[in-house]
Amino acid sequence: MSFPDSFDWLPQAPLQPMTLDWLAQAGVEVAVLRLEQIDPLISGNKWFKLLEYLAAARQAGASGIISLGGAHSNHLHALAAAGQRFGFATAGLLRGHPQDTPTVLDLKRMGMHVHWLGYGGYRARHEPGFWAPWQTRYPQLYPVPEGGGGLPGARGCRGLVAQVRQQLSGLGWADYHGWWLACGTGTTLAGLVLAEHGAHPVYGALAVPDDHGVAQNVERILCEAGHTASGYELLDASRGGFAKVDPPLLAFIEASEGQSGIALEPLYTGKALLALREAVEARRFARGTRLVFVHTGGLQGRRGMTGAA
Ligand SMILES: *Cc1c(COP(=O)(O)O)cnc(C)c1O
Repeated sequence: MSFPDSFDWLPQAPLQPMTLDWLAQAGVEVAVLRLEQIDPLISGNKWFKLLEYLAAARQAGASGIISLGGAHSNHLHALAAAGQRFGFATAGLLRGHPQDTPTVLDLKRMGMHVHWLGYGGYRARHEPGFWAPWQTRYPQLYPVPEGGGGLPGARGCRGLVAQVRQQLSGLGWADYHGWWLACGTGTTLAGLVLAEHGAHPVYGALAVPDDHGVAQNVERILCEAGHTASGYELLDASRGGFAKVDPPLLAFIEASEGQSGIALEPLYTGKALLALREAVEARRFARGTRLVFVHTGGLQGRRGMTGAA
């Protein structure tokens, strides 16, 4: 297996108006950039985060990618699907002990080499020397950090801004006020901030609690890119912890899906939209405000979750 000469697959995500009663009441307009629609398998923000890593791997003469994630990882899922589609090898280092979640079954079916690190082994992923044995085992595979994070991941997301600008006239919008999206590591948000250069603010709804270091991660990426750490705001949307799901959240998702016809999952997109409702109800945005909500995908991951089939 080897990399194709170029990835000329640059999927375009549709930008569509979102109809919800609480938005209409507040006079706030929201358009959704539907990254969950770009492909049945390579869904969400993860393809964009992988773009620059794939280019680097090809440059390095690698024959594939090795990366890490959990047993429901949207990142590993998109990576395995891309490897199968474009014909490069993939290996995944998984958190915890062997289990066959729907995601893991897909990874194996799509040809990813799966290794389980346990919990302690996974925690060691930032330690120096972590990669050495894996690079000995897979010398042809290029390592990509968890979730496709870091500056290369952010740079791959910059193109989303152009995708939105190209579609504004179709909505009858001359411009928009800002972006609203779910953040796990903040990498996608950092890419939007880099591309906007302060033209429009980017609001990040944190799917993880404060102590996950998202603010520091975003600052580090922007600093590495020589950009000032401004043009964005992070808000807590975690509702007590990553992957913590409560009945009001699930009821909100069900109601939103019913009204808008757009499917959400409870870890990222559902929490981000609920945080937006809270902001709108707190009158954070004046009547006439136009926001772009990024649907970052993740629908594959909800198959393994109880209460959110
Ligand atoms: C990975 C993921 C995110 C988080 O993206 P970051 O770039 O890490 O902030 C948000 N939503 C979904 C559905 C994801 O899979």
